[in-house]
Parts: sequence; structure tokens; C-alpha cells
Amino acid sequence: MTVKTNVDRSLFDEVMVPCYSPMDFIPVKGQGSRVWDQQGREYIDFAGGIAVSCLGHCHPAMVQALTEQANKLWHLSNIMTNEPALRLAKKLTEISFAEKVFFANSGAEANEAALKLARRYATDNFGPEKSEIIAFYQGFHGRTFFTVTVGGQSTYSDGFGPKPGNITHLPYNDISALQAQISDRTCAVIMEPLQGEGGIVSPSAEFAQAVRELCDKHNALLIFDEVQTGNGRTGDFYAYQGIGVTPDILSTAKSLGGGFPIGAMLTTDKLAKHLSVGTHGSTYGGNPLACAVAEAVVDIVSQPETLAGVTERGEWIRQGLAKINDKYQVFKEIRGKGLLVGAELNEQWQGRARDILVAAGQQGLMMLVAGASVIRITPSLIISQQEIELGLEKLDQAIASLV
Ligand SMILES: *Cc1c(COP(=O)(O)O)cnc(C)c1O
Repeated sequence: MTVKTNVDRSLFDEVMVPCYSPMDFIPVKGQGSRVWDQQGREYIDFAGGIAVSCLGHCHPAMVQALTEQANKLWHLSNIMTNEPALRLAKKLTEISFAEKVFFANSGAEANEAALKLARRYATDNFGPEKSEIIAFYQGFHGRTFFTVTVGGQSTYSDGFGPKPGNITHLPYNDISALQAQISDRTCAVIMEPLQGEGGIVSPSAEFAQAVRELCDKHNALLIFDEVQTGNGRTGDFYAYQGIGVTPDILSTAKSLGGGFPIGAMLTTDKLAKHLSVGTHGSTYGGNPLACAVAEAVVDIVSQPETLAGVTERGEWIRQGLAKINDKYQVFKEIRGKGLLVGAELNEQWQGRARDILVAAGQQGLMMLVAGASVIRITPSLIISQQEIELGLEKLDQAIASLV
């Protein structure tokens, strides 16, 4: 006979690898931008599963796409192609600069494909010496060993033995540092067109432009990691479209599946042909369930009204944060674009972002941090004005409980 297990937070400590420190409550149900925990407490969701749940929880169009596909066909592997994958790839090429798509299951895997393609292209065209990858401090590209090493935080990549080589890190937004480092041995520059995990830092227009020009000058590829910024988050479908700088390779994940795991690498015909049969792959990549859901997501997010709504909602949140700041003097700067919002804490509040996050949870608000001193808000792209106001009230109460 099996004994019924108590499924509570203490079970996490008992059976899970301790690489996370989840909050005390366990959500069991979500609808739109509201979530309920095991005790039936209601939360406003300003976190969106870390910029993933772009249409909120259980959006009817996603539920329909998922259940329809679930009753048809779940999986084939890449020994065969499938209709949802082909339809989604076609849409992604129509909506972006890209002509070719590779499907993966996560952001890290999409970046892994991007980096491998860049190395392959350089090797095929210029020889093995052209292998340097330039990345930026505070950048985040995932947790596989290659991507975490390319990421700009050594605390994430140290302590796992020898690292993949020839990766250089430079300060973000520093044109002269890039000018000094980039050379004909540089194979690619990878950057987020707005650093997310690193603290919500936008590139200056001059920096983005200079990166593109320097890459062209040295035959280096430009990779935009749009895992967090992509799929409407900044108010453009992809952030590069709002910056006016087009990359050679783009990685996308998070909001692409809206809560169903999927990632993709987008690129041009010219580059794609270097990943010929057998050079790369994934068992689950392009899975019909994932692609059917992502197709429903892309259909809604790409509508001009949805994208315009992102900018409007971002403004409401920024105004709300400014009001809270007038009352309590907590923020040094409110940053970001669209619904990728960050607020950096001032001197008196240094290092207290997690305290605010925990206090917010107690008030019934789910939100995020980006480092020790930046709070981050990445809600559903279609969150209602009323839910935004309710969430801001809860944030106000959370901060009031800490002063
Ligand atoms: C989250 C994130 C990743 C990693 O995505 P996973 O799906 O966790 O592998 C990569 N790059 C950026 C910019 C991200 O925000």
C-alpha cells in the first residue's frame, strides 16, 4: 500500500536538487494574470513565469491549440517533419529577418545552436583561427556549459572544470572596448538587445549601431539573444525591430511557447546551409505539441493591437512605480522597455530586492528580481489595467511593510 505524501514546500527540500530556493507557497491554478495557491490564496502575477506566460495562464486559444494537437499527434522526432513545426517556422520567417528556423526546447539550446552555427560558419569560410566569441559582462545566455561560459557572470560558470575556450567578455555599452578587442579572428558577437537577468539594461542606440558596423568590418556574425526580449515583450515582435539593427542569428524561447517549452534559432539562408544534415539536432526540437501552442501564441502576440498594448501597459507600470517611489523613496532608476520593467534600488535599499519579492508574495503579488538590487516586472502582455493597479497596490503594501 502506498502512503499518501504531503505535497508541500518541505517536500522540495527532501527530494529536489537544491539549485533553487522557491517561495513558501505552491501555486496550483492560474487564469489570466491571477494565480491561486494550495490554500486558495489569490495572487496577481507580475512575474509571468520569468517573461514566459505572455498570454497569462490557460489562455483559451493556447488551451485549444494544445488539446487539439494532443488528440492528434504528440511526437515524431526529426526523422519526420510535422505540420505545426512547418507552419510555425513559416510564420517566424514572415515576421522577422530570418529565412530559416531551427527548433530547440529552451533558450539555452537555441543559443547553443546559434553559437555552434557561428563557429561552423567561420570554420568553413575562414579557417579554425576565426573562433573568438565576444560577449558582455552581466549578459545571460543559459545554463549549458557553452552558453553559461559565454554569459558574463563567472559565478555561474566557475567551478565546473575546464571551460569552452576563446570567449572574451567586454563591458556592455562600451564602444571603444569593442573596437579595441574585435579583430579578424572574431567569429561572432553575442548580445541581448536589452540585458534582462543582468539588471534590465538597454543598449544605447550608438552602441547597437557600432556593434553591427564592427561585426561587418571584421566578418564577424552578430547574434541577438532575444530569449527574454522576444515575442512582443518590448512592444516590437522582436526587440531588434525597435532598435533598427538586424542580427545575423537570433535566438528566441521563453514567451515563444507562452508556458510550453520551446526555443528556436532564426537565421538567413546563407548561414543556415552550414548546418547541413547531421551537424546538429534535437530529439524533441520542433515537437508538434510545442509548435502548435507556439503558433497560437505568435498569432495573437504579432497582432498590432497586442504590441501597442504592451507599450501602453509598460507605461502604466512605470507610472505606478514612480508613484510608489514618491511615497517611499526606494528606487534610483526605473528602466526597461515595454513589459520588461526594472527598478533599481537606491543606496538605502541596496541588496534588498529579494526582501521586496518575499514581502510582495506575502501581499499576494508574484514578481521577480534581476540581481540583488533590481526588482523586475514581466507580466502577461495582455494583463488588464485593473490587475496592474491591484498589483501595484500590493507592491506598495509590500514596501510599506519593510520601511
Ligand atoms: C532565460 C534566458 C536564457 C535561457 O533560457 P532557458 O530556457 O532557461 O534555457 C537565455 N538567454 C536569455 C537572455 C534569457 O533571459
